[in-house]
Parts: sequence; C-alpha cells; structure tokens
Amino acid sequence: MLKAAQEILQKYYGYKFFRSGQEEIIESILTKRDTFAVMPTGAGKSVCYQIPAMLLPGITLVISPLISLMKDQVDALNGIGVPAAYINSSLGYGQVEGILNAAQSGEIKILYIAPERLKSRRFEGMIASLEVSLIAVDEAHCVSQWGHDFRPSYRLITPFIENLNHRPPISAFTATATKEVSKDVVDLLELKRPNIFVAGFNRNNLYFGVIRGEDKRDFLLEYIKAKGEAAGIIYAATRKEVDALHAYLVKKGYSTGRYHAGMEAEERKNSQDAFLYDDVQMMVATNAFGMGIDKSNIRFVIHYNMPKNIEAYYQEAGRAGRDGANSECMLLFGPRDVSLQKYLIEQSSLLEEKKEYEYKKLQAMVDYCYTSQCLRKYILQYFGETNTPENCTNCSTCSQDLEYQDITIQSQKIISCIVRMKERYGISLVAKVLKGSSSKDIFKLGFESLSTYGLMSKHTIKEIKELINYLVAENFLEITGGQYPIVKLQQKAVIAIKKREQVFRPVRKKDDKQIPDNKLFDLLRQARKDIATREKIPPYIVFSDSALQEMTKICPVDRNAFLTVKGVGEVKLERYGNEFMEVIKQYLAKVN
Ligand code: ADP
Repeated sequence: MLKAAQEILQKYYGYKFFRSGQEEIIESILTKRDTFAVMPTGAGKSVCYQIPAMLLPGITLVISPLISLMKDQVDALNGIGVPAAYINSSLGYGQVEGILNAAQSGEIKILYIAPERLKSRRFEGMIASLEVSLIAVDEAHCVSQWGHDFRPSYRLITPFIENLNHRPPISAFTATATKEVSKDVVDLLELKRPNIFVAGFNRNNLYFGVIRGEDKRDFLLEYIKAKGEAAGIIYAATRKEVDALHAYLVKKGYSTGRYHAGMEAEERKNSQDAFLYDDVQMMVATNAFGMGIDKSNIRFVIHYNMPKNIEAYYQEAGRAGRDGANSECMLLFGPRDVSLQKYLIEQSSLLEEKKEYEYKKLQAMVDYCYTSQCLRKYILQYFGETNTPENCTNCSTCSQDLEYQDITIQSQKIISCIVRMKERYGISLVAKVLKGSSSKDIFKLGFESLSTYGLMSKHTIKEIKELINYLVAENFLEITGGQYPIVKLQQKAVIAIKKREQVFRPVRKKDDKQIPDNKLFDLLRQARKDIATREKIPPYIVFSDSALQEMTKICPVDRNAFLTVKGVGEVKLERYGNEFMEVIKQYLAKVN
C-alpha cells in the first residue's frame, strides 16, 4: 500500500519524498485506524488524506469549514487530475444533485462538504447510498471552544457519523492544537483509539522578526519597498486601522486590497479574489481574512498590531511560505496593542474563567514581543516542544541583526521603584513615578516623596514602559493577570540585585534585506499568470513559487528534466510543460 502511496505522490503531485510525518499518517489511515494529526501550516496535511482517498475503494468525505478553502482544494485536485468536487451553500439545488449523482456513479473520489450540510436529513439520506471509505475533518480545532475558530456547526459532525450505516475511519487534521484543543478534538469527534501524530511545529523557511519602538508606517514603507513585487498580507487589529492603512498604501502607489468583516460580502470576495489571482500584490486585513486562504506564494506576513495570542499569531503568520520557499513573518509591536487586546477581552461576553485564560495567553504574546531568546524557540516551547536549538539563525534574535544594550542601571532603578511602591501597582503608575510625573494620582498616593520619584526623568514614559515590559518578558518581573494587572518582582530580580548582575537588552540594527533580482523568475511568473487567467484559477494552483524558483535554478528544457521539478506531476507536465519550457528556452537564448 505504501508503495502505491509513494507512486501517487510522484505521479500526481510531482514530489519524490514524503515529508516528515506524512507517511506514518497515511499508513495509519490506510490500516483503517482513526487518526488525529497536528501539523503546522504548509506541512502538507492535505496529501495525508487525499492519497488514502485515491487508494481506498469508495469516496472520501472531507469536512472543511470554508467555501473558499474547498474551492481551492478542489481546483488544485482537478489541476493534478484527481476527480474531486465540493458541496456548499454557493451551489444551487441542481448543481448539488449533479454532484451527488456523479458521486453515486463513482466519478468522484473526494467530496468536500461544509459542516452545515450535515444536519440536512436529505443530505444524510443521499450519503447513505454512497460507499464512504474515509471521513477527513480538516481544521479540526474548529470543534473546540478552546480553539480560536470555534464553529458550532462542527458539533454536527459526530451525530452525522453516528447516523451512518457504516462508520468509516475518521481522520482529523489541524495546525493549531494546545493540549485542551487536542483533547477536545479526540473527545468531541469521538475518535476511537486514534493514532495521534504531532509533527514538529517548526517551519524552517519562515523568518520571524519583532520590531519594537520604531515608527510602524516608516518601517512598513521601507520594508515593502525592499520586497519588490512579492505577495504579502498585512494584518491590523481593527477595521478602522485596516481602512486607514489601506488608503495610505494605495496613496503611496502600492497595489493593495483590503478585507474586513465590515465590508459588503461582494466587495470582500472581489478583494480576496484579486489577491488570490495575483491581481493585487498585498492585502491589508483584520484577522477575518485568511482562514481558508491556501495561496501558497505569500512571501511575507506583517502584523501591524500584536494579535491576541501565540496561537492566533502562529496561524496567521504561518500563511506565509506554504510552498516551502523562504518567507518572512514580522510583528510590529506597539504598547497600545496590549491595551487594545485587553479591552477586547474585557468587552467580550466570555465567562470570568475564560477571560483569565485569555489574559494569560495575551501575556505570553506580549512576552514574545519582548523576549531576547530565539523567537522560534519561544514559539515552539509555547506549543510544548522541547529539544529546540538555542539559535535558529533565522529570526530577529538569532540572525545577528541585533546589538546589545547595557540596561543594568535602568533595571535597578525600576526594581527599586517597584519595591518602594510595595508591589501593588501596574506598569503605567510605576513608569510615571520613575519619570517624575506630576499627575494627580501620584500626589494622591504620596509617591512624589519616594526616593525613586523622577529617577528616570530623562527617559520618556514609553521608554520606561518598554524597559519594564522587557524585564517582564525576561522573568525579572511578573504581571499578575486580571483587568488591573500589577507588576511584581520575581526571584530572578532579587538575585540580580543581590549579585549585582548585568542586564542586557537586544536592539535591532537597521537591516537591508532585499529580494534578489531574478529576471527568469519574473518571466515564469508572467507565464503562470497568463495560464491562470486563461483557466480561471489562481496562479499558485498552476505552480507554486518554489516550483518556479526551482525552474530558475535547473532551467529544464526537456520533459524528463521538467518532471524533476518538485510540484510537477504527469498531468501538469502535459498541461503546462511546453509553455514554461518555451519561456526558459527563450530566456537562455537571450542570455547565452
Ligand atoms: P497544510 O494543509 O498542512 O497547510 P498543504 O497540504 O496545503 O499544507 O501543503 C502545503 C504545500 O506543501 C503544498 O504546496 C503541497 O503541495 C506541498 N507538499 C505537500 N507534501 C509534499 C511533499 N511530500 N513534498 C513536497 N511538497 C509537498
């Protein structure tokens, strides 16, 4: 069976080797075991259920949360010659009938369905007449309230399965799973003795960077200028911010779309399509954008504001580089981001207990923005991975674009001030005392008579707060949860003071990373765009950026050589090979 799986991987997908975890997952599914796989975005989850689907006798149902995601997957499958279809609310009655008929006569191997469908008795009746060999639940974290994308319709999956005449093996996939979510997925989907696979969360091709204390707009302009025509997403926290930033970038002449839940559905869809089809280069969006975006050639994801937690961050940032080519994830941190997220938690209708939990997760996100350790290590540890290298060489901490500032004296002043304020106040008030602010609350509490009052008058309040936040991130200080967080000393601060230890803080040196000029890549990209327009599919479904990049390296001009490019299977060779080889030949003739 596994040999057959390998052959399909090569013949249809154009890949020689399975990636880590894929083979084991496919084997588990093929031996009819329930299977739960946690793999990072871009790790190749789809292949894990699509290949078994092709090998098993009947049909595979894939439950997927979003219309756009389904369409994308089905386009991609059809693109490599696999009979697949989807059923969701975008189709009319007649179309659904047509698909179900095709399914009944064995013309469809993989059928994507929206979970809302599962409650329809009629649909259930129709499914009953099919031979369902496998049910795959994509984005399985949507079943859990602890996840960040809870969808009540996912709770329809289990009763639906229970009502089937014959229960096929169930497999569930997600990129995000904390312990709570994993447990929920297994419990709520009622997986039976599942084989559980947790692939490493690491994404080697992603560079992680945190930018603090810089003007965000200045940084953004400088950054996107250096990126040339590369596709990217810029996430902002609010609709208002999205609109403002979008208008700003358009005014500066950048090809930019926007997306948020306040826009009309039609406008949103057009905007999304323009991005998917490479008609606009960048998308400015709230976190409403992205789930279900399979666009593989996103070269950078910038968070203009800090998101609410690491799970959300890693998922959003992880939309960069799905094709495996080098991509960047930049987070622009500003202290206002923290108050906004706190406000959102406070305004939410969450139960008190869940709010506490959200505050805790928010704090971990803030710590990420201040940590001086390897950012990749920080994220991986957050997801429970041990054994991560100290230095990844591909984040803003490890790539040596930092220099170290001695902040020993400032740290001593801050710690001393917190002690004098009896560890009973928040960051803002501590910063005000150190600054020597003459605001009312200071005098009311008599803090103007503390010896630390005005001790850091040469710093701005913002700088002092940054220093405090840094000390929190480094575990010298801690912030207690709740709406009015209090800053307190940790053991590490007491020791540092006693032993007169030095404290250093990393500061970013200006970087000038540029994407190198690549003429052939641009020509291939244009050819891809022409084909995509002709076939009305997104360009990345024709070929990924990484496939084009490989073509620029090996310059294949015959069929055998073209087949060696990762991502070129037999169907794609037939469909597009000549067109791309022609571009390469012409290019070579010119430069040689
Ligand atoms: P996920 O759903 O885990 O985010 P996808 O299934 O979309 O990831 O796969 C991400 C990319 O990796 C796709 O372009 C896919 O074709 C590619 N891919 C999957 N498996 C392999 C493999 N074994 N070798 C090379 N590329 C692969």
